[in-house]
This record gives sequence, structure tokens and C-alpha cells, in this order.
Amino acid sequence: MKNCIFCKIINGEIPSYKIYDDEFTFAILDINPTSRGHVLVLPKKHFDMTENTDNEILEKMIVVSKNLGKKIRKILKSDGFNININNDKYAGQEIMHTHFHIVQRFDGDGLKLWKANENEKSKVGETYNEIIKNLK
Ligand code: AMP
Ligand code: ZN
Repeated sequence: MKNCIFCKIINGEIPSYKIYDDEFTFAILDINPTSRGHVLVLPKKHFDMTENTDNEILEKMIVVSKNLGKKIRKILKSDGFNININNDKYAGQEIMHTHFHIVQRFDGDGLKLWKANENEKSKVGETYNEIIKNLK
């Protein structure tokens, strides 16, 4: 895809810290890491976001993410890792080429990804009914 920074990285037009690639996927270090060893796993084929990505490709991506996360955890002696997906702009996606983040976690790093929403607490039952009614 023209003008896509991740397509350019995959094509070699822009340099990157490539750590892995295979027929379907490509993995690089994030240049603005949340923590040491922050990796991005990309599909080689361009899709704009996870919800529009072929399931077969997503299956490859999650397996690559798990394998790399586990190996890098050992190498960097981290205490765990998150696999994070930002799907669309308001979920924090800035680059519109599907990617998974692998973020290594270290004891005491203070990163907090999910904060409870007090407003929503009392509405869980209501929300459940709305979802179940329409979920096909
Ligand atoms: P997102 O907000 O989920 O779209 O994440 C995009 C990520 O790509 C951010 O964490 C950026 O730091 C990272 N990023 C942007 N440009 C590059 C680049 N040229 N090489 C590696 N990572 C990049
Ligand atoms: Zn792309």
C-alpha cells in the first residue's frame, strides 16, 4: 500500500530493527518503546486494522507474537508480557496497518493498561442483555 510506513518497512524502503520474518509476518522493534524489547508484529500483506484482517493471517500473527514474546522474555529476563492490539483511531491506533504490540513487563514498572470505569459497573447486566440480544 502506497504511503503506508509499515509497508515501506516490510519492502525495505525504510530501515527498521527487524527481528523476525516469515512468509506471512514481519516483526520489528518499536522505535518508541513502552518498555525494553517492545516488538510490533505485522502482516506482510496490508490490512488497515485487526477487524478487517483475514482470520488466517491473524492466526499466524498471534502464534508469532506468543513465540517471540516468550523468547524475548527469556532473553531480557522480563517478568511477563502483554500482547496488545489497538483497533482503529479511538482505540489508540496511529498507524493504519494492522499490528500487534508485544510489551515486556518488569516487576514494579507501574504500567496500568486497564482502569475500571465506575460508571459502567452498575450497567454490566444491561450491557450484557444488549450484546446477547444482538450477537449472532
Ligand atoms: P499504534 O498506536 O498501535 O498504531 O502503534 C504504532 C506504533 O508504531 C507506535 O508504538 C510507534 O512508536 C511505532 N512506530 C512508528 N514508526 C515506527 C518506525 N518507523 N519503526 C518502528 N516503530 C514505529
Ligand atoms: Zn501497509
